[in-house]
Parts: sequence; C-alpha cells; structure tokens
Amino acid sequence: MRTPLTRFPRLEGKRAAAWLIAGWVAAGVLLAAQDDMAKIAREYVRLVLAMGQHDKDYVDAYYGPEDLKKEAERANLTLDAIGAGVKSVQAQLAGVATGSDEIGRLRHQYLEKQLSAMSARVRMLKGERLSFDDESKALYDAVAPTYPDAHFQEVLDRLEKRFPGSGSLVDRYDAWRRAFLIPRDKLDTVFQAAIAACRERTLAHVKLPPDEHFTVEYVTNKSWSGYNWYQGNFRSLIQVNTDLPIYIDRAIDLACHEGYPGHHVYNALLEQHLVKGRGWIEFTVYPLFSPQSLIAEGTANFGIEVAFPGPERVAFERSKLFPLAGLDAARAAEYYDVMALVDQLSYAGNEAARRYLNGQIDAAAATAWLERYALMPHDRAAQRVRFFDQYRSYVINYNFGKDLVRKFIESRGGTADRPDRRWQEFETLLSSPRLPSGLR
Ligand SMILES: [Zn+2]
Repeated sequence: MRTPLTRFPRLEGKRAAAWLIAGWVAAGVLLAAQDDMAKIAREYVRLVLAMGQHDKDYVDAYYGPEDLKKEAERANLTLDAIGAGVKSVQAQLAGVATGSDEIGRLRHQYLEKQLSAMSARVRMLKGERLSFDDESKALYDAVAPTYPDAHFQEVLDRLEKRFPGSGSLVDRYDAWRRAFLIPRDKLDTVFQAAIAACRERTLAHVKLPPDEHFTVEYVTNKSWSGYNWYQGNFRSLIQVNTDLPIYIDRAIDLACHEGYPGHHVYNALLEQHLVKGRGWIEFTVYPLFSPQSLIAEGTANFGIEVAFPGPERVAFERSKLFPLAGLDAARAAEYYDVMALVDQLSYAGNEAARRYLNGQIDAAAATAWLERYALMPHDRAAQRVRFFDQYRSYVINYNFGKDLVRKFIESRGGTADRPDRRWQEFETLLSSPRLPSGLR
C-alpha cells in the first residue's frame, strides 16, 4: 500500500502547527479511504467467487487468498443474497471519495462498473432476458454498432470477383483456403515458433515480470478456438481447440491473442502493477461477464497488429511459418490479401448473434447467416452458434473491443507510424484498471 507524501511549507509557530494538523487530517482521511477501498475490494472478490457457485463460466481466473475461495464455497450464497451484497458494496463505494490521482479514480470506476455488471448477471441468472444491446451495455459497458446486410454484401461482392465460379462463395473460398492448412503433426512446431516470435517482439518494448511463462495444451470439444487460463504468479495455461481445421493465420493470431502481448501479458502486468505493486486484491479475480472482458479481448486482438504490423507479418510468415508448416511461401502475400478482405466481415458475426439472441432467428438460420455473410464453413458456423449460446453478447468484445482499443491508443499518439509510442500506450493500458467507457 502506498502512503501519501505531504510537503509542508516553511512556516513558524501557530501557523506551522495548523498546517501540520491539517496535513495529518488530510493524510488520515486518505488512509481511511484506502482502508475502506481495501474492505470494498475484499467484499467484491468474495461476491465474484460466490457467483462462481452459480455460473461455471463466471470466474475466469482467481489467484487471491485461498481462504476467500473456501469461505465462498462454504457460504454458498443464493443469487438473492449476492444481489443484496452487491447493492451494499455499491453503497459503500459511493461513500468513498475517488481521490485526485488518475489511477485512484480508475480504480474507483473499475469497481463501480464491475459491480454494476455483476448485478446485471445476477438478474440474468435469475431469468431476466435483456435485448442484445442492453445486455452488452449492462455486462460490458459498451454497445457495438449495427450494420445493414448491404455493408457485408459489398465486401462479399469483392470476394465474388476474387473467387469466381459456381456453387456458394463460402465453398469456393473454403476450397482455396485448404492450401493454407497447418498439418496436425506440424501444429505444435508452428505454434511454438509463433509464440517465440510474439514474445521476442513484446520483450523488445515491454518489461515483463521475471519468470513469466505459459504452457500450451491441445484440447477438443469446445465452443471456442483458444483459451488463456491465467493462474497467477505470472503463469498461464493456454488451450488450443483442434476440433476444426487450423489455418496458418491462427498461429500468430493465437500466439499474440492468448500470449504475447495479449491475455498472458495483460494478466501478468495487472498482477505485477496492481496486485503485487499496490496490494489491490480485486485484480486477483477476473469475472468473465464483466467490462474487463472488453479490455481483455480488445487488447488481445489489437495486440496482433501492434506486434506484427501488416507487411512485417507477411514477411515473417513467408520466411518462417509457411516453411515450417510445409506451405508454399510464395503464396503468403496472396493469403493475407484475402484475409484482410474477409476480416471486414467480422461484424457479421455480431449481427448473427444479435438477431439470434433477440429471438428474431433460430439456430439453423443463425448458422446459415454466418455461412453466407461471415463466410464461415458450416461446421465453424455451427461452433460459433454454440459460442453464442454459452457466451451471448460477449462476441462484441473481440471486434468492437479491438476498434475501441485502437482508437484509444491512436488518440494518445500511438499511431501505426509511431511504433514505440504505440507500444508504450499499449503497455500503459495493459497495466491499468481502465474500462470501456474510460476509453472514450
Ligand atoms: Zn481472448
């Protein structure tokens, strides 16, 4: 815990005594506020852990005191009790002054927004249904823009020209893409090379905690394609789902997103700066359905561009990853030209989720919509709908999160033509408790 430094002007006699007393009072008020915040933070952790008893996906990571976890299990609070607990902590928080330094203000806002999202999640678990946009506002502190079908059709028309022929566009695109599959027996070699490169690039700009490390596991039968399980002490377990074919672009995407400078680095820097550095216990727990997820996913996705700006990525893929995967390196630029076009369809996934979760279309129609507008082959589209079922409006955190993070970093001077500044702003964001509404 940091204590405030008070400087006294050189004064004599009674006035000096008055200054001294005023200083002690101010320091006392600050210390009391810090004490209140510590209590509130502990209560917040207890409530998040209690939520984990009702919602198996809620607690994404916890590496705080073991006794708090045991307490939460023993107490086994009902959803009503959790809801009441959240209200009480919100009231306590409202009574604590936010302080004058930015990090203190961000901490206060962080707890405010995270608590508000928890109360919305409690209502959802009790059966309340919100519209897609109301839900994302309540849980992730953001509403993603809506695009008409024509917006995607314009991109699809360009892809039609790129892949002329009969049958559906997604089939033609899928057939072309097969030449860029990573063979199963080369998967780990390619991933390890991608991870090493992402780590090296991150280390050149970001000071990482000593001994940070993660392990990679290959799993099946999941609704996601990759997952970072942060374990504390600067360790992560990264799981890669091999249910579906894995194309060459996933190597850098996953290595950056889950690892460097994405989730692994974000969690490690929060632990280093906020948990170990300041003793802020609320950061030892990560509730998945909360505004923090937009920052996590947004930075993880934007981090890919920070570590591998366009041309650098193609050069690296051509010289290193394509040969390791046994692919035709001469086609690397061709592959990423098409990927850049397909990437412009990313918000089509949000549209499918919005319509499906709002009850306008059923699962089969959502799958068909993803095949047509997001150019996902049938199996991938079906996996994506399973993701909607499990994680709902969480989908906006990836693409809208990335766009918000990019805008924020660029507004602070971290534009693509100033890579050092870009890394610096990126690291600052990763080390701070900033939430989506704080990005605007
Ligand atoms: Zn992620």
